[in-house]
This record gives sequence, structure tokens and C-alpha cells, in this order.
Amino acid sequence: MNNKHTIDIEFDRKHIWHPYTSMIDPLPVYPAARTFENKIELETGETLIDGMASWWSAVHGYGHPEIIAAIKNQADTMSHVMFGGLTHQPAVELCKLLVELTPAPLNRVFLADGGSVSVEVAIKMAIQYWLSKGKKNKTQIMTAKKGYHGDTFAAMSVCDPVNSMHAMYQGFLPEQVFVDAPRSEFYGSQSQDELNALETAFAAHHEKVAAFIIEPIVQNAGGMNFYHPEYLKALRALCDKYEVLLIVDEIATGFGRTGKMFACEHADIAPDIMCVGKALTGGNMTLAATLTTEEVALGISQGEAKVLMHGPTFMGNPLACAAAVASLTILKRQETMANIERVTSALNALKRCLNLSAVVDVRVLGAIGVVEVERVVNVAKIQKFFIQQGVWIRPFGKLIYIMPPYITSNEDIETLIDAIYAAIEGEHF
Ligand SMILES: *Cc1c(COP(=O)(O)O)cnc(C)c1O
Repeated sequence: MNNKHTIDIEFDRKHIWHPYTSMIDPLPVYPAARTFENKIELETGETLIDGMASWWSAVHGYGHPEIIAAIKNQADTMSHVMFGGLTHQPAVELCKLLVELTPAPLNRVFLADGGSVSVEVAIKMAIQYWLSKGKKNKTQIMTAKKGYHGDTFAAMSVCDPVNSMHAMYQGFLPEQVFVDAPRSEFYGSQSQDELNALETAFAAHHEKVAAFIIEPIVQNAGGMNFYHPEYLKALRALCDKYEVLLIVDEIATGFGRTGKMFACEHADIAPDIMCVGKALTGGNMTLAATLTTEEVALGISQGEAKVLMHGPTFMGNPLACAAAVASLTILKRQETMANIERVTSALNALKRCLNLSAVVDVRVLGAIGVVEVERVVNVAKIQKFFIQQGVWIRPFGKLIYIMPPYITSNEDIETLIDAIYAAIEGEHF
């Protein structure tokens, strides 16, 4: 234990932005000193059981020896080299794995440096594809409300208009076509009316629409909405019928999180374009990718521009690719998928929160558990309580949710659930 503060929290408070925080009245930040397995050790001595996997990313926990070895090894040889005119083993190996693991038609890979960038690239691909086909009017993107696709401008333009405060950027943000958020629940049945309304929107807008983008099965930051696989199936069929490309944003759901390698497998569909990120490197380095089909890739290159107009400086960063290769290698093992099933079973104990009057709903899918409460949670207050309980959970809105690393033991999941139960029961929110 180390009680000496070396992290200058006062400087941090005054000078450093954290995600979505005020510079006038920032939420408290806790000093993290070390991470290991499924634990976060604070500089103040507490060791916390991590319920967030650092926003969906640390699927194998922290400091996995195989991933750390891969990064160290790669650092000894080549940390980075430009991807323009050069290639390297970690990138090639990673892209082979991505082509192997994703649905069959996806076999062309663009390596991006973060999730939002991969969404920008997906949107560019779609617009450029139709341009090449001579369809110059297809410049809009269609999407469902309550979505989240990142914070850069094109990505933000397809996020939920209310949550991402579109009004603030009016005049600058491209205007997209929104349909209602999917509302038939994952474990319920699919409403035909909902699908009819979706088709009406396609019929009305398709001539101007290049692609429909959606988070498959789980709309995460927009409300942890688990929707019915039939919706996604219907969406695939409508995209085909109306000549619209389907982009699935698997940045949060990919790599086993929903109980399948990719969430679109719940609906047994393949998209035209897929974005992956977050868990790609097992939460060790920033890296994302946009995959597409031969049809779209060749289509783009047949166009006037001939090339896809994107190329980040750190494209295909060898350190990140090496981490991703190691992470995907672990993910492919039978024991990892078995672990996810075990975590699902353990998370089902969250259902006992339904006894509490403040709880509106409890839902579990794959390694995601969500407790929805009746009012917006006071994050600073509940987080203080959670830290006293030895857990790291960061709610948003009315949602207290966990998506722990797949290696989390049943005992640790029980501790996370106990803490959530106690927080709600004791009104610590
Ligand atoms: C996190 C996320 C993004 C953005 O990824 P960044 O790496 O934060 O830019 C996009 N889409 C979804 C579904 C996400 O969960």
C-alpha cells in the first residue's frame, strides 16, 4: 500500500479535460496507480474490482502476460513505421485474423486509430461507393435514434440527436435521416408494425441515402437497449431491396461481449461494412478497423478518385497490431468463449435487484448486465459508495451497468452485484 500522493490531482482538476466533464465543476477523478487481472489499484491504496473493462475494452483483464509480451517484443523490434508504402508482419497477421473472424463477405480491412475514425471511414466508404456507381445523390446516412457512434463530426451526426446535443452544432453538422430507435426487446417478440414503419422510411428516403448505420443488438451509450434480432434481419433485407449499404458498428459489441463473436451473428446477417474497436487490442492500445466486402472495396476504387481518401499518421501502428494479434489469439480459444458463458450465468443474479422498488428493469446479455433505475443517478455520490465497496462501476443516466473482463471470477461478479444492490437499497444514488 502506498498512501503518498504522487499524482497531482489539483493540477488535473484545473488543467485537464476528462471525458464529458466541465472545467468549472468537474466530477471527482480517482488516481489509478496500477491495473492487473480484473483489478484497478488506486494510489490511495484501495484495490477495486473492475466492472467496466475500461469501457468495453479490457476483455481479458489488465496486463495479460501474452499481450504484454507481444507489445514488449514488438517495441524491441519496431514500435512504429509509416504505413504509406510500407507494411509489416503485425498488420498482415492482424488483418488475416480479422478477415477470418468476421462474417465471410468482409475481407478488406482499413486500420484506423480509434473507433470514431473507423466510423468516419465507414461513412466515406459508403458515399464513395455510390459515387463510383454514378449515384451522386446518395450523400446522407440513415440511422436509428438512441445510437452512439463516436464524437467526431460525421460520427456524431449519426448519434442520437438529443443525447449528443445536435442543436449546439446546427449549421455545421451534416443532417442525417433518423428513424425511431428499435423497440422490440431482445427476449420479446418482434413487432411487425415497427418493421413496416422502417420500410416506410426506406421507401421515402432511399434515393438520398448511402448507408444505414446501427449498433447491432445493443445500443450502448444511447440507453443500453437490447433489441430483437429480427429487426436487424429486416434491416439487412431492406438495405438490399432499396440499394442502401448496411454499416454495423460493432465497436462495443464485438469480440464476444454479447455472447457471440460479433453481435450481428445473433441475427445471422453480414453487413456491407463493419466497424470494430474498443476490445480489439484487449484494451491495451488504441486501434480500430473498418472492414468491407470485395464489392464495396472494388467499387470505390473504380470511381473517379480511384483511392479511399483516408490515411492516418499512425495507421497500422505495429505495437497496437501486435497487441491485437495477441488479444484475438486468446479470444479464439474455446476457454474464452466458455468464460463468457460463465460470466452470463453469474450476471443473471442481477435479477434480484428487481425486488427493489427503485428498479425499473434488469437485463443481461452475454457479458453485459444492466440495472435501470427510476431516476438519473448522481454519479459522484454512487461512485464514492462503490469505491467504499471495493468496486469500479460508472453509471450514466438511469443506468447502472457492468461489462466486466471475461476473466472475472464468479465471486468478483457477486461482489459487483452486491454493491449495486446495496447502492440502490441504501439510496446511495
Ligand atoms: C466507443 C464507441 C465508438 C467510438 O469509439 P472511440 O474509440 O471512442 O472513438 C463508436 N461506436 C460505438 C458503438 C462505441 O461504443
